[in-house]
Amino acid sequence: MRLSRLGVVGFRNLRDATMAVPLEGVAILGANAQGKTNLLEAIHYLEIFRSFRGVPDRQLVRFGEEGFRVSADLAPETPTGGEEEGTHDHGEAAKDSVAVVFRRDGGSKRVTLGGQPVERLADAIGSVGSVLFTPDDVRLVSDGPAERRRYLDILLSLNVSGYLDALQRFRHGLSQRNSALREGRPEREVRIWDEAIIGPGAQVMWTRAVWIRDRAQAFRSYYREISGGESARIHYAPGISGTAEWADRSAAAEDFRRSLRRTADRERSTGATVVGPQRDELRFFAESPHRSRDVRAYGSGGERRTAALALRLLEADTVRVGRGTEPILLLDDVFGELDEGRAGRVLELLERSVPGQVLITAPRESDLRLRREVLPRWFLRDGEVTV
Ligand code: ATP
Ligand code: MG
Repeated sequence: MRLSRLGVVGFRNLRDATMAVPLEGVAILGANAQGKTNLLEAIHYLEIFRSFRGVPDRQLVRFGEEGFRVSADLAPETPTGGEEEGTHDHGEAAKDSVAVVFRRDGGSKRVTLGGQPVERLADAIGSVGSVLFTPDDVRLVSDGPAERRRYLDILLSLNVSGYLDALQRFRHGLSQRNSALREGRPEREVRIWDEAIIGPGAQVMWTRAVWIRDRAQAFRSYYREISGGESARIHYAPGISGTAEWADRSAAAEDFRRSLRRTADRERSTGATVVGPQRDELRFFAESPHRSRDVRAYGSGGERRTAALALRLLEADTVRVGRGTEPILLLDDVFGELDEGRAGRVLELLERSVPGQVLITAPRESDLRLRREVLPRWFLRDGEVTV
C-alpha cells in the first residue's frame, strides 16, 4: 500500500490540512518541536487507532479543540497498466480510504473504511500497513516485559486473524477469575473460569511462540548485520511452567492447565492468577563463543538499540508476508541516535529490504540519510507543512 493523501483536523499542533503524499514518500524536515513526530503519530493512529506514544486520545486533541479527525487515501502499491496511471494523473479518489473522528466529550471514536462506518475497531486496524521506527523503540528492550507483550499484541492483532479475539476473550476471563480470587470466593467460583482462560490463553501463547520461532533466524541475521557481526538470539519464555516447545496449541493448553493446578495455593495468597500469557516474556541474548548475556540486563545502549531495530524489521517482514503488501516505512529521526557504523548498516538494510513508500523525519538535511536523492521534501514549521 501507499499513502496518497493525508488529512488532519484538530490533531496536536498540526495545522488543519489535506496533503497529497508523493508515491515514493517524503522527507519531513523541521527544527525540534515543530510537529514532525506528531505527523507520523497521526498516520500511525490510522493503523492502530491509538497513539504509538501510549497516551490517551484526548491528549491528541489540539489544545482548546473539541476533537480531531485523521483520514488517509490508500493507493495500491504499483499502478499497473495505462488506465491506472491515468487515474493517478488526474488525481482522482484512491481505491481505499480510512478515517477516524474522535470527540473529547464522551470520548467517542468513529472509524470509517471507504466511507463506510465499521462496527468494530478490530475490523479496521491494520489497514494502512505501516511500520514505525522511533528513537523510543529502545524501550522495547530496556523496559519491563509488559512493553514487549504490548509489541507482540499489536503486531499479532494486526497480522494474525483470530489473535485479537482470543486476546480479548482471555483478558475478559482473566479479570473475572482475578476478581473471584481477590474477593476470596469459594474454589469452584474461581475454577469456573479456568476453561474460559485456558482456551484463548493457549491460543495467545501458541501464536506468540510460532511467530517467534518463525522469525528467530531473521532476528539473528538482522542483529548480526546491524551490529557488524555480533550474534544474538530472541527467546520466548511463556508465563507458565516449562518451555514453549509445544507441538500444537492443545499441548500449550495442557501445560497451561497443569500450571494453573500447581499454583492454586499461590494464587489464593496473592489474590490473582499467577500463570498465563499475562506473564509472558520475550528475551534477547547476545552470544559470544563462551557465554550468552541477557541484552536487557547487561547489554550496552547500542546493543539494546540493535535488538529493537531488529524487532521493527521483523515487523516489516510480518506485514509483507501477512498482508501481502510492501509496508509503508515511517522513520522518526532514527539515524540521529546511532553511531556511524550502525547508522550506515541500518540504512543499507532498509534500502534493500523495505523498498516501499517511506516517510522520514529529520531535524536537518544532513541527518537525512535514506533515499536522499529521490525523496521530495516537506518543511514543517509550527505545525504547518510547506511543500
Ligand atoms: P523533535 O525534533 O524534538 O522530536 P518534533 O517536531 O517531533 O520535535 P513533536 O513531538 O511533533 O515535535 O511536537 C511538536 C509540538 O506539539 C510540541 O511543542 C508540543 O508541545 C505540541 N503539542 C503536543 N500535543 C499537543 C496538543 N494536544 N495540542 C497542541 N500542541 C501540542
Ligand atoms: Mg520528534
